[in-house]
Amino acid sequence: MSERPIPFLDLKAQQARIAADLRGRLDAVLAHCQFILGPEVQELEQKLAAFCGAAHCVSVSSGTDALQIAMMAEDIGRGDAVFLPAFTYTATAEVPLVLGATPVFCDVDPHTFQIDVDHLAARVRQVRAAGVLRPRAVVGVDLFGQPADWPALRALAAQENLFTLDDCAQSFGAALHGQRLGRAADATAISFFPSKPLGAYGDGGALLTESAERAALYRSLRTHGEGTTRYEVLRTGMNGRLDTLQAAVLLSKLTVFEDELAARERIAQAYDAALAGAVQIPARVPDSTSAWAVYAILLPDGAARDRLQATLKTQGVPSAIYYPRPLHLQPAYAHAHDGAALPVSEDLSGRIMALPIHPDLTEADVARVCAAVRGNA
Ligand SMILES: *Cc1c(COP(=O)(O)O)cnc(C)c1O
Repeated sequence: MSERPIPFLDLKAQQARIAADLRGRLDAVLAHCQFILGPEVQELEQKLAAFCGAAHCVSVSSGTDALQIAMMAEDIGRGDAVFLPAFTYTATAEVPLVLGATPVFCDVDPHTFQIDVDHLAARVRQVRAAGVLRPRAVVGVDLFGQPADWPALRALAAQENLFTLDDCAQSFGAALHGQRLGRAADATAISFFPSKPLGAYGDGGALLTESAERAALYRSLRTHGEGTTRYEVLRTGMNGRLDTLQAAVLLSKLTVFEDELAARERIAQAYDAALAGAVQIPARVPDSTSAWAVYAILLPDGAARDRLQATLKTQGVPSAIYYPRPLHLQPAYAHAHDGAALPVSEDLSGRIMALPIHPDLTEADVARVCAAVRGNA
């Protein structure tokens, strides 16, 4: 095949669409030189909070640091159990471990890939019965752009007195029951890693919360635990701020974000229509919209998945595997796992495959992806 390879992500095409606005934003920062907590940072925080209807937004240095600051603010550490899905990105489990807490891995729904709330409830009961760890928090991950079942997660957390943290790194812009993610949990962590739906030109993240007390703690923690004056240190914090230059990039990208979400949705619908029957297409979470960070199909088994991926590659059609290994089977985390069976996470890892779904895919690109998958699945 001599056709040009389709990019899995096309940040150059996106940059061309916003070039003039982006240049203006960057030039403004270069003119004022307030590279740390410059005016763009506050402007971005206000716009992100308004975008999802959250009361407070505190920008930070990455999605991982957003998760860490949120858990530090709750004093989560040694002896604490943090419940989270096994089928997610490594950062979700890394943060409780860094803080000395113990991740308790839960399985996911085989259709929506979101945390299985019944299994979560059983895991909380199991940890309470064992009497070793204190159940403290549940991290609901909105996987691949779709929301987790937040009403059910909140109800369980209220019953069990758990802090709810939304790992919304992949899903800012998605909505559940008509409301954008950002206020579904006690705190919501988002990521601006360049490949996320709203990506910066480097690392970045933010925390959203309805609580003024939590927001104030997050601001203190992101600047070394500072108090009301700069050299008063109230708590052990970190250097966790978002750069002004990244805020400027994100302000420019926000001007096209709604259009990009719509474009991703159109592509998902085109994939659904063309691929249903040939492969297992992703199930939608009821009454939700997706930010479509990832469009993941399922093949019958690992051999079929690997064959299809290799054939697509020869035709210039890129694909990716999120995630080839669930976290409880990662060498770094196996010691922290209590041995509970997580069959759905293991099954999905073996046969899942992601197709390109960025807003700069052309109709011809989408048609090529569909033809290649249908012809070879
Ligand atoms: C990307 C991601 C993170 C981490 O975000 P960074 O900005 O890369 O630190 C955390 N959780 C999930 C589910 C992610 O996809």
